[in-house]
Amino acid sequence: MSNRDADSTIIDEIAEQFTKVVAETNGITISETLELLCKSNEVIESSVVLSLVKEFRDLISSYQFGSVDIYTLLKHPVSKGIDKFFRKFPKKYHEEHIHLTGSLNSEFVYDELQSVLSSADSAVYRDKIKSIFGDVSIDSPEDISKLITLADGEEFDRYLKILDLPALILKDGEVHKRAAYHMASELYNKFNVGNLKLKFTFSRVSSDPKIITTPSKEVVLGLYEGFKSFANEVGDFNFNLSPSFRKEATYYDKNLFRSKKDGFEKSISELLELLEEHPELIDHVNEVDTVGNERDMYRKGHFRDMQDGFRRLQRRGFQIRSHHGEVWKTLAKGIQAVDNAMNIWHLDNLEHGISIGINPNYYYHSLFQRILKNNRESKPIKFNSRDFYEITEMDWKHDYHVMDKLVKGTPLSLAEEKAFTKAKFRTATEVERYQHDVLNRMIHKNISLVALPSSNKRLTGNFKKR
Ligand SMILES: [Zn+2]
Repeated sequence: MSNRDADSTIIDEIAEQFTKVVAETNGITISETLELLCKSNEVIESSVVLSLVKEFRDLISSYQFGSVDIYTLLKHPVSKGIDKFFRKFPKKYHEEHIHLTGSLNSEFVYDELQSVLSSADSAVYRDKIKSIFGDVSIDSPEDISKLITLADGEEFDRYLKILDLPALILKDGEVHKRAAYHMASELYNKFNVGNLKLKFTFSRVSSDPKIITTPSKEVVLGLYEGFKSFANEVGDFNFNLSPSFRKEATYYDKNLFRSKKDGFEKSISELLELLEEHPELIDHVNEVDTVGNERDMYRKGHFRDMQDGFRRLQRRGFQIRSHHGEVWKTLAKGIQAVDNAMNIWHLDNLEHGISIGINPNYYYHSLFQRILKNNRESKPIKFNSRDFYEITEMDWKHDYHVMDKLVKGTPLSLAEEKAFTKAKFRTATEVERYQHDVLNRMIHKNISLVALPSSNKRLTGNFKKR
């Protein structure tokens, strides 16, 4: 049975049978649901559906063992049937983590881009796009789609980069309003989402004074109005706006502020003033998040700039969430970042937190295998790569000469390989203890974790692609 043969009637039938098993059971897994589907009399009578479900179950096992990829599963008729089930699910979903700039589709970005490109500062915008993406075409929604879609194998830095394009169009409150309405209606109508938590940049900083950035108050009010007008239309839609602050120490407007701390505290004052002026916002704006590149942000001092501002928000009932433990220079520093964010910022919630979930023994052993293989082929370790940072920060005791050889790509002797194994083992054990300690404190303090497995897997490159 090939996928070609499955037309929409078959997909409808799969959706119907799947729905039936789900409706008549409670608390069973998806694989148990599929197993029961194979034993259902109606499915057995339809040999086409039966063979498709059997084939799909086999594919799931193959996927788990790494011999087929996720796309093979997704394009299968049973996937499409399950997709139908989810879209028709009588309760709407809660989207707990979505970014404004990452969720605007290419048609929307293209249309809005036309207006900035026809403005007096068109050349500035073209230059900016060129500086982000190089010499690329931006003449159709398809061109835009290529620029803002993350290709397979691309990672976190490219991800941050592609968010810069939608950011360019968000130049006033009106665009924010249209963007929010557009996003709400897409998610509600196409993906059955009835509640969302939106992460958006509260005050954007542009390196070019000619590039217009929207004042933060207009951003919040624009988004509020866009979502509110959609909510009023449909009646069963709700939203939460989560102003997000870039955490990089250098991210602040250097023309206006002496320091990161000053810039951040001004933003907090603006946010609190806005809530005083517009009490209707209080039900929708009651938490904040921090985002950005955290590779250089792990020591206590890195967290002090934002500490006081967060305290002021907490006193007003705000929850503090943070994108943390998502990328790192070394795993130990990734854990340290979560540790410090928890202690100094008093986080209520951790978004991503991969450094807390990854198994250090697995992580260091696969790093060890990769580096050893390259060493046997006389390949040096690239300066400033993640392997470089990990290797140079391992617990080498007296064996620094082994580290030097690895960095230079000089093949190790058998005894030196043994020393490398030991250093790797000591490091993994130490990091594991630290990680468990941080994890226990998280549990103790009741800090919740929003894990986002698919984006984590794609963005961090910490997991080997199958
Ligand atoms: Zn995020």
